[in-house]
Amino acid sequence: MRGGSDVIVIGGGLVGSSIAYGLAREGASVTILDEGDVALRASRGNFGLVWVQGKGDGMHEYASWTRRSKELYQGFADGIQERDGTDIELKQDGGLELCLGEEEFRTNEDEIRRMHNQPGVGENDRVMLDADEVRRMLPLVGPEVTGASYSPHDGHVNPLYLLRGLHGNAQALGARYVSGGRVRHIEKDGGGFRVISEAGVFLGQKVVIAAGLANKWLAEMVGLDIPVEPNRGHILITERMQPVIPTLLVNARQTADGTINFGNSKESAGYSTRINPAKLGEIARSIIRCFPILKDARIVRTWSALRVMSPDGFPIYRESESMPGAFSISCHSGVTLAAAHALELAPVILGGRFNERFAAFSPERFRAASAA
Ligand SMILES: Cc1cc2nc3c(=O)[nH]c(=O)nc-3n(C[C@H](O)[C@H](O)[C@H](O)COP(=O)(O)OP(=O)(O)OC[C@H]3O[C@@H](n4cnc5c(N)ncnc54)[C@H](O)[C@@H]3O)c2cc1C
Repeated sequence: MRGGSDVIVIGGGLVGSSIAYGLAREGASVTILDEGDVALRASRGNFGLVWVQGKGDGMHEYASWTRRSKELYQGFADGIQERDGTDIELKQDGGLELCLGEEEFRTNEDEIRRMHNQPGVGENDRVMLDADEVRRMLPLVGPEVTGASYSPHDGHVNPLYLLRGLHGNAQALGARYVSGGRVRHIEKDGGGFRVISEAGVFLGQKVVIAAGLANKWLAEMVGLDIPVEPNRGHILITERMQPVIPTLLVNARQTADGTINFGNSKESAGYSTRINPAKLGEIARSIIRCFPILKDARIVRTWSALRVMSPDGFPIYRESESMPGAFSISCHSGVTLAAAHALELAPVILGGRFNERFAAFSPERFRAASAA
């Protein structure tokens, strides 16, 4: 049996390590238990956007939470760099969602109108740009592009540096990271918890379950029903190129080293991370319609990874009522929300009244929806 911590965080992906870093900043002693290299890890296969526009259609609390994370991001990135030197390459210069054809233009326009009526969402400053305005920002865009929606608050990071920076910072603040620590069981132990893992048994006053898709079965052990499901996304990386895409797009970004990353596909494929060549073709065709100049670009790398999706796409946060002190945290935008998870969510875990603060993100909403 290993000595006790204030908090055991299960899962060392972006969500778990953001929270662990935030807890350690507050002075808590933290143990992170992670499954290891065999795991399904969205945190190592994502696109790196800190994306604001379009988030929270149907749940204004999510729009505000996303926007809050965006506001916190620069200070969060600076804090990571100051402590261990990791530059997460944050850029928050705004982003575009390009429209191909009139119908896509109208869809984005309608979404802006609909979301504008939800409290706080207008602050995302999302507006439609016509084709000429887009062409001024992206001179190499193709003739099929009819316009775009734009928000000045969108940005991106290097997601692998973010993950590394969070691990490094949490450990610099005293957190213990245990790899090969796949959790098999969680149980009450006096006023705290006993967590039984493949790396031994750990004691903690509180436990945070942040194990991505594994929350579905781990959270049941503390009386929570967390209905997350996998959703597969593919990413393609080109060779290094001259500047083609100077402004960030929701489905393409040119990184500092000149490679262009394409992504944003969504697919229901169970827990399989196999590459689907048909999906790669679909992504490539769509980007060539936006940038015909890319038709001869060489793809040097591609992969797929599984998103952690809730039924409505919004986060699920809850403290167990039958076992207070046990929390389950899941979301499908763990890059975007990393700053809020570290700097605002983690202190509430230590301070109390978690379910009040995050009532909008309770899984009870699914029960209410199915009863209706
Ligand atoms: C293709 C793709 C593109 C994306 N693009 C973006 C984007 O641009 N912007 C954005 O904000 N988000 C994006 N996301 C989503 C983002 O990557 C996820 O929200 C985030 O990585 C989820 O992190 P997580 O820690 O919850 O899960 P994971 O990364 O899956 O990590 C879970 C961790 O838990 C551990 N674990 C699992 N089971 C156990 C167990 N029993 N015991 C101990 N440890 C366990 C695993 O080892 C793993 O490290 C994208 C996702 C994908 C797949």
